[in-house]
Amino acid sequence: MLQPVSPPDDQFVYLLHFSDYIAPGRHPARHYIGFADGDLARRIQQHSTGGSHAARICQVAAERHNPFVVARVWHGSRSDERRLKQRKESPALCPRYARSAANTPSTLAG
Ligand SMILES: [Zn+2]
Repeated sequence: MLQPVSPPDDQFVYLLHFSDYIAPGRHPARHYIGFADGDLARRIQQHSTGGSHAARICQVAAERHNPFVVARVWHGSRSDERRLKQRKESPALCPRYARSAANTPSTLAG
């Protein structure tokens, strides 16, 4: 779906949606965009357990018993991940908030 580069078949960019805000008021995030090179299921598992291989936000969420769902997965490279993070549009990308976004993946190409 992300067109500018042609990543290998086993590279993914994913959007995690947490059940609750990580730190309401202070750090009101509830999304995380990540990149998996290879085994996506294993990477998600690492995040969900909150261990040393998890992203920091996932470690905090696990400590606070704030589970996540994998809201979206794209076939994409690490540069796609960076590009999506820089756009700071995670909520708009999340089908839980903007179902139309899930139906129009072409809007991500810009
Ligand atoms: Zn969401």
